[in-house]
Amino acid sequence: MSKLNKIKGFSDLFPPQSSVFVFMEEKARQVFKRYGCKEIRIPVLEKTELFARTIGDETDIVQKEMYTFLDRKGRSLTLRPEATAGVLRAYIESQLHSRERVSKLFTFGPMFRYERPQKGRTRQFHQINVEVLGTQAPQADAELLIMLWAYLESLGLSGSLVLEINSLGCPECRPGFHQKLVDFLQALDQDKLCDDCRRRSRVNPLRVLDCKVPTCKSLVQNAPRICDHLCPDCKKHFEAVLSVLEEAGLSYRLNPFLVRGLDYYQRTTFEIVSSAIGAQTAVAGGGRYDGLCKALGGPDVPGLGFACGMERLALLLTDIKEQRMDFYLAVLHEQALNKALLLAQRLRKAGYAGEVSFEVKSVKSQLRLANKLNVKTCLLLGVDEIERGEIVVKDMQTGVQQAVSQDDLEQALGLNLS
Ligand SMILES: [Zn+2]
Ligand SMILES: [Zn+2]
Repeated sequence: MSKLNKIKGFSDLFPPQSSVFVFMEEKARQVFKRYGCKEIRIPVLEKTELFARTIGDETDIVQKEMYTFLDRKGRSLTLRPEATAGVLRAYIESQLHSRERVSKLFTFGPMFRYERPQKGRTRQFHQINVEVLGTQAPQADAELLIMLWAYLESLGLSGSLVLEINSLGCPECRPGFHQKLVDFLQALDQDKLCDDCRRRSRVNPLRVLDCKVPTCKSLVQNAPRICDHLCPDCKKHFEAVLSVLEEAGLSYRLNPFLVRGLDYYQRTTFEIVSSAIGAQTAVAGGGRYDGLCKALGGPDVPGLGFACGMERLALLLTDIKEQRMDFYLAVLHEQALNKALLLAQRLRKAGYAGEVSFEVKSVKSQLRLANKLNVKTCLLLGVDEIERGEIVVKDMQTGVQQAVSQDDLEQALGLNLS
């Protein structure tokens, strides 16, 4: 029989890597809760149309990267490439807007892109997403950024990170800027632009601004900057966001070329970049998307949010260790098997974490196992101990061992509960 392997571009996650993901999720829950965010769960599969309508037909994601297929009834479905569209769909469908003035929602989960799998880019990856709906206040933009930063700090990461921020204007001021940008791009030597940018310069000129190809990068250095073409409202909004950030002591770097790969962003747009994992990699990004809710057939509710790439954060979280188990209860005789299980059960009830042996082995091989499991304490139970109502407690750090009464086991363990 042929072996069953995982699909190309997907990966399995085992400890200790999986504990890094648990760590990121636990910290997110802790921090976001303090800001009134509520966790939601939404499907990973949606109608293709949802993403085409939100992300934009002309984006790379919709053009070449969606994981799309027909189901048995011939309906086009897509494994979500990002979370905002689904959150908005759920928000509108559940009419949450009629029950809450402002909704702050967060969710974790897998996202999918059908691109050629390569190092650091898999077809399934994971994100932490926060969406705030129902407020236009610049203070909300600032609070979202402050919360994101607090989250990264809670992971112990903020030191190596930089917040980059830009405003993308609104339907009021963007068309005028668009035209200026198109004019600028048309005047360039088209042959010097990469293939993608030649196409983008007609259909989605903003995307040329954040092309990663070095020649494109240098060509756009003199391009018109959207921050110089904001309408009075957008300008006021952006200045208000920046001034709260300054008052809160959150430093940022203005990046006039920051546009993000999604069409729906307006006004405040940001990325958190790290230079620790390759050239300026974004570990989180987001912005405001007023108008998106209405475009999806919902009420005209403003919104903003961000996504953190968990695989990218994980690359920075190299010293997260798996939690050590408190004990390994080693069985040295057949007659001790059941008793050992019951004693282990008592310890677990008291809050200790540990494993109990299901088979009898020599003291030597049991201790080797305890070492391998990296437990704090090894407990040894044989026939003699059972007869005396005792158990041997061996501290794996110091090597000190002593027999104690089974009644006093909890105290004898005397460890910090994990
Ligand atoms: Zn504007
Ligand atoms: Zn380019």
